[in-house]
Amino acid sequence: MTAAMITANAANKHALRQKYLAERDKRLRADGNDQYVQITGQLAHYLADPYMPVTDRSPRTDHVTFAFIGGGFAGLCAGARLKEAGIDNVRIIEKGGDFGGTWYWNRYPGAQCDTASMVYMPLLEETGHMPTEKYAHAPEILAHCQRIGRYFGLYDNALFHTEVKEIIWQDAGKCWRIRTTRGDDFTAQYVGLGTGPLHVPKLPGIPGLDRFQGHSFHTSRWDYEYTGGDPHGGPLSRLADKRVAIIGTGATSVQCIPHLARACNRLYVFQRTPSSVDVRANAPIDPVWFSTIATPGWQQRWLENFTENQAGGSAQEDLVQDGWTDLSRRIRSKITQLPRDQMTPENMLLAYEDSDNEKMDEIRARVDTLVRDHATAEKLKAWYRQLCKRPCFHDAYLQAFNEPSTRLVDTDGKGVSEITEAGLIAAGEHFEVDCIIYASGFEVGTSHDRRAGFDPVGRGGEKLSDHWASGMRTKHGMHVHGFPNMFFVQPTQGANLISNIPHNLTDAAKTIACLVAHARDCGAATIEVSRQAEDDWVKLLLTGAGRMIGSPDCTPGYYNNEGHDPGPAAKLNVGYPQGPVAYFRYIESWRNDGMFDGMVFQK
Ligand code: NDP
Repeated sequence: MTAAMITANAANKHALRQKYLAERDKRLRADGNDQYVQITGQLAHYLADPYMPVTDRSPRTDHVTFAFIGGGFAGLCAGARLKEAGIDNVRIIEKGGDFGGTWYWNRYPGAQCDTASMVYMPLLEETGHMPTEKYAHAPEILAHCQRIGRYFGLYDNALFHTEVKEIIWQDAGKCWRIRTTRGDDFTAQYVGLGTGPLHVPKLPGIPGLDRFQGHSFHTSRWDYEYTGGDPHGGPLSRLADKRVAIIGTGATSVQCIPHLARACNRLYVFQRTPSSVDVRANAPIDPVWFSTIATPGWQQRWLENFTENQAGGSAQEDLVQDGWTDLSRRIRSKITQLPRDQMTPENMLLAYEDSDNEKMDEIRARVDTLVRDHATAEKLKAWYRQLCKRPCFHDAYLQAFNEPSTRLVDTDGKGVSEITEAGLIAAGEHFEVDCIIYASGFEVGTSHDRRAGFDPVGRGGEKLSDHWASGMRTKHGMHVHGFPNMFFVQPTQGANLISNIPHNLTDAAKTIACLVAHARDCGAATIEVSRQAEDDWVKLLLTGAGRMIGSPDCTPGYYNNEGHDPGPAAKLNVGYPQGPVAYFRYIESWRNDGMFDGMVFQK
């Protein structure tokens, strides 16, 4: 680069930073997370299960070896690995009417995975399933969850439409006592928690929310009775004479808006912040090709290869080849272009910024190529760094705004200002509608006990919320001192691989099965992380570079606590300092050496 080019590049970068900050400022709100309302009381109908009736059953008062709370990927993987290890008495407790977790609830039209099926869908090799598409649609993923449940015999003992209310450690019996909303009161030697971060829908606290006289629902409780159609993509035929509003333009909306745009008499899309929407390039998976790659151990190889490509490894080959691995490849390539003597942390961050700016320019330019109306196209452009918000990928979303029936109502960062008996007010205009669809996301920034619906009480009566009052404290993100025989299955303080959450879960399932089998084989009644080991792990986490997402410079959202200082506790919401690839290597050897350093096994 010449000196003039370097100066021009710096000026462009500066201007873009200013633009991003101005866009962030428009969207910042003093009430942060409090802008959303918890769905309780009068609003509780938004949580009702539209998919399956709740059936009567008698309460359980027995004892199981392992109780797992949550029947999504986490519970299914843990259950599967425990069964393989010969631990048969496993009970999964699930709020929904079947297995699936996210995929039980999210049946909105167009729902599909955003990370390639080959690495996103767990236990494909074990169950012998070939995904039909590079990015499978929701019905296939839900059916796969059910397949795992059947294959590993997890249905036999499962409790559906059941929520845990209370879970208390019993020192005398060395077990957990669990009470549920269905009157169950049973004990379990071990407990796993896989309640997921995104299962409690939230509503925007818009004045007049309860005043609307038309129909309304949240995307995670899609009302096909009202809209017609089905989760397989059948046309939403009952909307042909309806005026519909959808609030929100996050990852959910990006997937369902093309279906709504085709079906509604009138569709108003209320946008506060545009999503960045990159190429999807979905395609069917060819069974002949699949048979050539599906040799023993294939899925683990693919998982590791994706993580190597996506999370800073040195893989030569990219098996998955998607938007996530492309993103990382671009960043790496920019950084490696730096002359050796200029490879400073500061220059590496600037190179990362260059790569981000190029990508976001491409994404903004893509809007112009796909959206015919210039003013609408301008409003659909995202002005923030790509990982400020959840990156989206879709090949029909932007074109939906070319449908004559569809109108983007951009609120310039302010959102819908009021809901009336007949519709909504936004950007100073009143919109009369028959139906409001809330694509307003899920509770993330609220406390663990509020999202989980219970606060585990460990040894000596200590509540988990007290143990974590100054931030999360674990070893591996899984084991908590004072909470024996309890395993947390989630990414934070472990690999923290955000681009493919199931990899974290499938790996944790191996750890659980390994520990429980070891306790059984050596006659131990309890497994617990020592205080020292927990402290050491927390200390190790703090040696890392800190949080990779959630910068206060970003446009507000759930990644950055709505733009508010998350407080000192948030510095612990990090992963293994050397990153996911190193974490998965470390934990594998930790499991395999049989020493289980930091864990105490007691008779
Ligand atoms: P999000 O939280 O991402 O989006 C909520 C949307 O509602 C945002 O556009 C938000 O605007 C908007 N909103 C909130 N309040 C108002 C208001 N008062 N007026 C107007 N708009 C408002 O929820 P999603 O359900 O879209 O996605 C949640 C997460 O679920 C994703 O981030 C992703 O992790 C996961 N997901 C994954 C999918 C997959 O893997 N296939 C598919 C769908 C979701 P603003 O941005 O300004 O806050």
